[in-house]
Amino acid sequence: MAYLTLKGINKIYPNGFHAVHDFNLEIEKGEFIVFVGSSGCGKSTTLRMIAGLEDISSGEFLINGEYANDKGPRERQVAMVFQSYALYPQMSVYDNLAFGLTLQGVDEDVIDQKVQKVAKILGLTEYLDRMPRALSGGQRQRVAVGRAIIRKVGIFLMDEPLSNLDAKQRVTMRAEIAQIHRETGATTIYVTHDQVEAMTLADRIVIMKQGYIQQVGTPYELYFRPSNLFVAGFIGEPPMNFVRGTVKNGCLTIGGRDFDVRQKLGARAADYEGKDLYFGFRPEAIVLGTRENALPVDVTVELTEMLGDNTNLYVNIGETNAILKVSPYDAPQMDEDITFSIPYENIYLFDAETEEAIYVD
Ligand code: ADP
Repeated sequence: MAYLTLKGINKIYPNGFHAVHDFNLEIEKGEFIVFVGSSGCGKSTTLRMIAGLEDISSGEFLINGEYANDKGPRERQVAMVFQSYALYPQMSVYDNLAFGLTLQGVDEDVIDQKVQKVAKILGLTEYLDRMPRALSGGQRQRVAVGRAIIRKVGIFLMDEPLSNLDAKQRVTMRAEIAQIHRETGATTIYVTHDQVEAMTLADRIVIMKQGYIQQVGTPYELYFRPSNLFVAGFIGEPPMNFVRGTVKNGCLTIGGRDFDVRQKLGARAADYEGKDLYFGFRPEAIVLGTRENALPVDVTVELTEMLGDNTNLYVNIGETNAILKVSPYDAPQMDEDITFSIPYENIYLFDAETEEAIYVD
């Protein structure tokens, strides 16, 4: 049995706004789940329903198979870290960490052991006597995380916990959060709009759009087998390139050359004759020059962007803008005419009407 079950969950706010539609998910004990999607897609609302901070309008929420819709946050055994990691400004780091346990009347020796242990995990030992105002943003964030993990809870919920940190601190904290999860093994649900956080932290990602789940899967599955145009365009930076075209005689015309789509469509090939498809390929899933079992495309380099570890080439395929990600060591120059090739296995097709990905196997 799954540890947490969300069955047909809906959220309709009192003003009538339907924020979450038919949300279904089973979460195993110890899993690290990330909800990702653009701002306003319903991630926080779902997290708050799991926390017990927001009513569930319809559907069932089960913990260990037990109906939990009506349980309060305490009964659900959740700890939550919010965007604004409000610490008690007049208390030292030690007291901030100890506060929850002190309220529960836990023995002082036990509290001390726990505070020392959590401080060690988070690298806060030497700051225990400091006040929050004398800490950096990253250190304050660690105290906030520490306050959540010091209590023994079943579910650890985090809502954009890194959004107040600068880019460098975010990378460090991201690694720390992964480490804390490995050490505590706590079931974690983490909300972010940042696909890099989702890809690096998650066992499984739930990607949402306008209140609907688009796909649930491992980072690998979302990247290599996106279920629709939205997921394909959301995961990956720069995003997947899409060229829209109409199927004629089993072919799409891509940059002046015919690409036979029948092998990619299998038995459904006949259905798509005369219909529109999106042809998709990732910026990095190409080779310069020609290659066997690949579609060659001729383009002019309109612009180059040298980023250090790679160079982005901006090109036009017909009327469509596309980006190619190549090695900076042998990158073509601006205005150069080049041929690049897309290996057949790296080509994706999407139904232009439903926006669903088409896979034959
Ligand atoms: P996310 O976390 O993905 O950014 P939210 O779950 O916060 O999105 O919000 C989802 C949608 O619900 C948004 O359109 C938001 O404006 C709306 N919303 C959030 N809270 C309320 C509320 N209390 N009343 C009405 N609408 C709300």
